[in-house]
Amino acid sequence: MTAPNDDLKQLIRTIPDHPLPGVQFRDITPLLGDGFGLKESVRRLAEQLQGTGGHKVAGIEARGFILGGAVAARLGLGFVPVRKRGKLPFETVGRDYELEYGTDRVEIHVDAVRPGEKVILVDDLIATGGTALAAVGLFRSVGVEVAASGFVMDLPDLGGSARLRDAGVPVFSLLDFPGA
Ligand code: AMP
Repeated sequence: MTAPNDDLKQLIRTIPDHPLPGVQFRDITPLLGDGFGLKESVRRLAEQLQGTGGHKVAGIEARGFILGGAVAARLGLGFVPVRKRGKLPFETVGRDYELEYGTDRVEIHVDAVRPGEKVILVDDLIATGGTALAAVGLFRSVGVEVAASGFVMDLPDLGGSARLRDAGVPVFSLLDFPGA
């Protein structure tokens, strides 16, 4: 039996022990490089996310820009880049979050969203959920709710999608991969 989205799963390349021993890196570049793969992943994500009530789509640097930008255009919504520390040229608001070693920071422009608006969050993959939850915290700190989130890939064993749902954010994904 074929599982839903198996046609897209074939286009994900797994690189063992990258960038660290024990990590199975799920490389989305073959899917992005394939016309059918890109079109269908954007179409299927947009189908799940439409009607969730977001006023804009927010994509997380860097692969979330590719997918989030395409989903936003398909839904007829504007796009907000959620960037890593120090990349945005105008005045920013940001949020620090813990990594396994050290901390990182996500930032948006102060005028990217208005209090009371809602955004749809998009990235290529959710693992521990640290990055997505930092983005949710950042938007909430400026009075913006995350209406829904969409990912091509979920690593459910790492618990990020469950954490995001516990935080009150609906989560949609196209492909599940077991393990880390
Ligand atoms: P996390 O904050 O742990 O949910 O990690 C999510 C971010 O890290 C996403 O932007 C992913 O692109 C990247 N990432 C984490 N784990 C992997 C993995 N196994 N393969 C590919 N990308 C990953």
